[in-house]
Amino acid sequence: KLYNQVQDLKGSIRVYCRVRPFLPGQTSVLTTVDRIEESTISIATPSKYGKEGHKSFTFNKVFGPSASQEAVFADTQPLIRSVLDGYNVCIFAYGQTGSGKTFTMMGPNELTEESLGVNYRALSDLFHLSSVRKETFSYKISVQMLEIYNEQVRDLLATNGQTSRLEIRNSSADGINVPDATLVPVSTTSDVIHLMNLGQKNRAVSSTAMNDRSSRSHSCLTVHVQGRDLTSGATLRGSMHLVDLAGSERVDKSEVTGDRLKEAQHINKSLSALGDVIASLSQKNNHIPYRNSKLTQLLQDSLGGQAKTLMFIHISPEVDTLGETLSTLKFAERVA
Ligand code: ADP
Ligand code: MG
Repeated sequence: KLYNQVQDLKGSIRVYCRVRPFLPGQTSVLTTVDRIEESTISIATPSKYGKEGHKSFTFNKVFGPSASQEAVFADTQPLIRSVLDGYNVCIFAYGQTGSGKTFTMMGPNELTEESLGVNYRALSDLFHLSSVRKETFSYKISVQMLEIYNEQVRDLLATNGQTSRLEIRNSSADGINVPDATLVPVSTTSDVIHLMNLGQKNRAVSSTAMNDRSSRSHSCLTVHVQGRDLTSGATLRGSMHLVDLAGSERVDKSEVTGDRLKEAQHINKSLSALGDVIASLSQKNNHIPYRNSKLTQLLQDSLGGQAKTLMFIHISPEVDTLGETLSTLKFAERVA
């Protein structure tokens, strides 16, 4: 019965689950993943979760450990293409640190053509499609890259050192926007590679004191599209947010203090705010609690209404991640 609820998708919120493969060198490690089908994943659990010690979850799609970046993108492409028709789209990568969020969105550290992630493929596809339509439509595409760390918005494309504490504004002309964030027009895939490298570098600069800051902040690549119908002169706007969320793992409060505890509390707050917003949208509540975090404020225009949302949840396969794996699956069950 539980599974039917998940399958009964309301509105335009879709959930895909992706399971990371074991990493090179991980031999004879036990896995929690019992079975994967088209849209169902079954997790082997201690027997308290069910007679046979299995618990199944159904989503719009489940990608197993051998799914290629190309295959994952193929199921994302229609959503991405709708940006050129004026839709707002949000794609999230959710999961504990090490489960493959950055791999899905960006790719691995050493990028090859096959391993390019959703971000690059999305922009490349938008360039392609806009050139196919160029006789009838003229498009302008530009991007911003932001990071949310400890409830502060930072500009990852800043070249002048002015990166931090940006304001999120809501204007009737532009909707939700971050006016002080660098906005860069792009038209080729090499523009995109260049910007992604700059963004990565800006992220790394601030992580010297704390190792791997990237797992404790949200990063968001926003693509703005303006289109004009060349015959009628009508204009449209679409936007897409590609969000690599902070790691969803619970931090043991008894083990961390100071800055680390503050970070953990901010992450916890913003991920539950995101869960609350998506859950209230799918329940069609009247009040949607966008104001509870910077993340949901930033994405307000692109969550709900005509907007389309895709949540990629990521699962690590190792047995010792069972607790986090179940908590990720339950988060997804709630928002689906
Ligand atoms: P996260 O961003 O969730 O912390 P990463 O994307 O950094 O996790 O993934 C952790 C490690 O696993 C990286 O070395 C990454 O390259 C590798 N990895 C993740 N997903 C896959 C995958 N689908 N196929 C191959 N390697 C993967
Ligand atoms: Mg990451």
